[in-house]
Amino acid sequence: MKTYKIACIPGDGIGKEVIPAGQTALEALAKAQQGFRFEFTSFDWGGDYYRKHGVMMPADGLEPLRKMDAILFGSAGDPDIPDHITLWGLRLKICQGFDQYANVRPTRILPGIDAPLKRCGPKDLDWVIVRENSEGEYAGVGGRVHQGHPIEAATDVSIMTRAGVERIMRFAFRLAQSRPRKLLTVVTKSNAQRHAMVMWDEIALQVSKEFPDVKWDKELVDACTARMINRPASLDTLVATNLHADILSDLAAALAGSLGIAPTGNIDPERRYPSMFEPIHGSAFDIMGKGLANPVGTFWSCVMMLEHLGESAAARQLMQAVESITADQSLHTRDLGGRASTAQVTQALCDRLAGAT
Ligand code: ATP
Ligand code: MG
Repeated sequence: MKTYKIACIPGDGIGKEVIPAGQTALEALAKAQQGFRFEFTSFDWGGDYYRKHGVMMPADGLEPLRKMDAILFGSAGDPDIPDHITLWGLRLKICQGFDQYANVRPTRILPGIDAPLKRCGPKDLDWVIVRENSEGEYAGVGGRVHQGHPIEAATDVSIMTRAGVERIMRFAFRLAQSRPRKLLTVVTKSNAQRHAMVMWDEIALQVSKEFPDVKWDKELVDACTARMINRPASLDTLVATNLHADILSDLAAALAGSLGIAPTGNIDPERRYPSMFEPIHGSAFDIMGKGLANPVGTFWSCVMMLEHLGESAAARQLMQAVESITADQSLHTRDLGGRASTAQVTQALCDRLAGAT
């Protein structure tokens, strides 16, 4: 029987609650499908590890991950540790170490969810935001001088390379081409950022020639936020820089109902290394340890992981089970206005996968 080796990194806060829920769901799914099994290896990296060892993960931490088929990640963030340490020390280290340059963030209004976007008119929405995940505004280049003095100055330099932009554009056009509407919006800010973003636009035009069947347009990032609300149906696949897509995808998740249901995949499209799947929410210490965490974002991330592994039938079965959960108001967690606990939602999902309900 095919065995998938999955690394589990719960990380911090509610990551420690939703990742075990995801593992439980995957075990139940494997039992129902009977064509494959999972071998999970857990890594205790994150804020607690930092307090003991002074680093978020070991220096050679990528080595054990390299052998894995995929990585399931919770969240990195701790109120006692500066955000740039938790982010750069763990999540970005893995994304960059394994050149997971395409961050894919689907957004849909799931059945039963009272999505704010519904109040603007449309009852459904099916977007996928492609985020450049390896360079741009988060290249980590910059510096700070004369700290604390009146002449203090600091820079964060955004670096875009032709190779980096070409590969993310090609990935986005290919993804748009694989979707029914074959529609791509290239998000830009070339009116104000007149070097890198102008190159971004030029490369979009150049790559578009390879995909004559994809309809595409260009939108300024500020106008795009308004368009997501005013003309949501005019969007399907979007591609944006690291910073722009970071912001747009949080907006998209909120419009679809909750940060707690949105998934993401950090993908190495060339499959040289394992890809990493995670809910888009953070560690949410305010609700930690109370059983309030919505595990749906993690379940949906597992669906993306199964698709990436080529298990499309299993991915479909899990997504159907997730949709039947969200359709049932009694299984909504507090972020969706309900009272169900993480454990209740997970159990209900497993029951559905086992065909018990
Ligand atoms: P981080 O600093 O790691 O980003 P955070 O405390 O900013 O963490 P987020 O995850 O970004 O928290 O989410 C913001 C708020 O949304 C949380 O404080 C929490 O109340 C709510 N939230 C996020 N994810 C979930 C979830 N899975 N279930 C329920 N509520 C959630
Ligand atoms: Mg946050």
